[in-house]
Amino acid sequence: MVSRVIPVDVFDLVVFGGTGDLAQRKIIPGLYRRYWGGHIPPESNIIGAARSELDDMGYRALAREAIAEYVSEDKRDPEVIEAFLARLSYVAIDAKGTDGWDVLKTRVRKGTVQAFYFSVAPSLFGDLAERLHLHEIANAESRIVVEKPFGRDLESAKALNAVLAQHFTEAQIYRIDHYLGKETVQNLMAVRFANILFEPLWKSEYVDHVQITVAETVSVDGRGSYYDRAGAMRDMVQNHMMQLLCLIAMEPPYHFDPDAVRDEKLKVIRALDPVLPDDIVRGQYQAGNGQGGYLEHCEDPASKTESYIALKVHISNWRWKGTPFYLRTGKRLRARTSEIAITFREPPHSIFDDAEGWRENVLVIRLQPNEGMNLKVMIKEPGPGGMRLTQVPLDMSFAEALGESGTDIPDAYERLIMDVIRGNQTLFMRGDEVEAAWGWTDPIIEGWEKRGDKPMPYDAGSSGPEDALMLMHRDGRRWREIRE
Ligand code: NAD
Repeated sequence: MVSRVIPVDVFDLVVFGGTGDLAQRKIIPGLYRRYWGGHIPPESNIIGAARSELDDMGYRALAREAIAEYVSEDKRDPEVIEAFLARLSYVAIDAKGTDGWDVLKTRVRKGTVQAFYFSVAPSLFGDLAERLHLHEIANAESRIVVEKPFGRDLESAKALNAVLAQHFTEAQIYRIDHYLGKETVQNLMAVRFANILFEPLWKSEYVDHVQITVAETVSVDGRGSYYDRAGAMRDMVQNHMMQLLCLIAMEPPYHFDPDAVRDEKLKVIRALDPVLPDDIVRGQYQAGNGQGGYLEHCEDPASKTESYIALKVHISNWRWKGTPFYLRTGKRLRARTSEIAITFREPPHSIFDDAEGWRENVLVIRLQPNEGMNLKVMIKEPGPGGMRLTQVPLDMSFAEALGESGTDIPDAYERLIMDVIRGNQTLFMRGDEVEAAWGWTDPIIEGWEKRGDKPMPYDAGSSGPEDALMLMHRDGRRWREIRE
């Protein structure tokens, strides 16, 4: 199966913070890959804008290095690289001053799709938005792309929304949550709403519980002081895991349309119950395997920030009343894996004597690595031993099933940037959605801060703190093993 190439319209994309880490690791390599793949018309321009005093040649040299480092060899075609680099230029600019803005104005063409990627600290969003208008660079059709973190609580998120709203309408603002750009995350919607098979069972009557796991093996070493101000709740749960939960729990939208999808996600967030203190387990990884522990990495020996969190979450609506959603995420865990597991209830009555052999049906959707789905079903154990039951997986790796197009999956950033150019906001968070997510998160964080809760230590390379196991055991359930 070969994926179809549908080029976007000619565009001018200004990357503020175009010399930064994100631009070099994700944005420039991603744009190159889409150029290589034929999605970007050759007349499009990419303009880096940042503080460094570079000229166009210097910026192209930086981009060439980024491509050499972050694009796989099979896509590094010297001719295509040169053609791509020729579309790049650079403007040294001061987001807080006047330098560079008049030059930038001459680089952005009227009549082409205009997008401005704010790949800078959120404290500069307001300055950029204001100057784009002051210097008459942006117009009513321009799009702006803003990066995470979108605030650190409801108040700061509201302030950011307000500052952007002074200069841009909601239809012009693309808030990135790169999880939404992942192929399998989008597949959640396809699996749920393009098949009749699952939807009738997708409710508390048939679903015992849902587990959402995002486990990482990396530590926070090198970005500890930044991470320490966030922690797993702000860094992962409020945004990425919340989005996964919404896609699993939401009602079918009337159409695959940005506002229809985002309206349904918002309803899920609004239906989330407050989380009880007993339903939260926070942890910090210990030193081990030759590496330091969290407290060394975050450079604050008294830090109470969590590098791991597990939560039991309830959704108060007709569909999900009585089905808990267990979320867990952490650093320095046993394996790097992201998955959603939907565990179904027992059949109402067993006609078989082999009660011991019986296991619940589980639908596992793997987001990474090896994107795919796996449905555990009961069958008869082969052989002459009578009617004994055993569980087997119906396994589907997307890479195997889809052949070449299943392995050549675009990175989340490149897909999302192309959606910005297409003007499709479905995979971007709306302002009210972000605020609702903070509205649910804030009291949880305030609760543990007020109680002075300390995170539990856990061993590097483990599955997290012991107490997280208890969170499930107490309910007669078990976490799935964390493994690749
Ligand atoms: P960085 O510190 O590496 O780069 C910052 C960029 O902003 C540089 O190009 C710098 O020149 C520019 N800049 C700073 N002050 C400026 C000013 N006054 N005027 C004009 N330009 C200015 O940061 P980064 O890691 O690339 O992150 C950029 C944004 O993306 C941040 O909001 C960050 O939270 C977000 N983000 C980054 C990552 C990542 O992996 N790096 C991941 C998710 C989100």
